[in-house]
Amino acid sequence: MKRKAIIHISENADTLNKIMSIFENRLDEIKLYPNHFLEIKTDEEASGYEEIMSLIVKEKWRHTFHEEREYSKQEMKAAKYFHIGVAYPWEHDPMKDAEYYGTTYEYLKSKSCNCNKVQVSKLQLDVKKLGKWKNMAHIRPEYIITEYTKLLIENNELSGCEIREAIDYKGRELHPVFQLVVTNIVPPMQEVVRIEPYSHMEAHCESCSSKGFLRSELIYRKEELEKFKDFNFTFEYWDAYHIRQPIVSAKVRELFTKHKVRVFRYEPVRFI
Ligand SMILES: [Zn+2]
Repeated sequence: MKRKAIIHISENADTLNKIMSIFENRLDEIKLYPNHFLEIKTDEEASGYEEIMSLIVKEKWRHTFHEEREYSKQEMKAAKYFHIGVAYPWEHDPMKDAEYYGTTYEYLKSKSCNCNKVQVSKLQLDVKKLGKWKNMAHIRPEYIITEYTKLLIENNELSGCEIREAIDYKGRELHPVFQLVVTNIVPPMQEVVRIEPYSHMEAHCESCSSKGFLRSELIYRKEELEKFKDFNFTFEYWDAYHIRQPIVSAKVRELFTKHKVRVFRYEPVRFI
């Protein structure tokens, strides 16, 4: 696997010039922009990478970090589980989640964390908006599948999920849709997973150990492999929308690929 880091540093001109002079030939790409902004794009194997990262921490430079990871064909073939990204056809309007379309939820305890939220009605959504993603899509925080995908899951006895009926929010008789409920929750992730803590909300919830934005691949212990099924959710709630991340088995990847159920990213889960 190749790791490429994209780092943005916002500091005063003197600091940025100093960084430029130290690292100019030791990182793949380093660019100074007006308005006190420096952009670094580099393979993490580059000679200056470890040093710039430790300087960022030591000097407390204001920065953002993003990592892109590339996997070889062999690595993809050898992987047993994959972290997936599922299309969100409502992308242009992030407020249009399942609740917006009338799905009802109740809170078990306080409203401070999504882990206390329980769905108490059938999933409701705008079925017309599914478009080309119709075989599998996401309406936060739920997953939608068509009858085609439902049969694929049932005929292959894929584990770790339940399938429930879903309905159009206007009650229109369109093609049938279903909710894919992932029931298998895997153990908490290993500490080595890179996390950028939330700044806009409490970073830690006692029940779900929610922490922030995921900045690396998902990592588990080898001993935990047996707890994984075909469909899984992370224990933690992640990212901007504070939701569990879906993980599927190699069997699901193979079937979905063969039968054209589109998922936009399969990233191998690492076991250490
Ligand atoms: Zn929580």
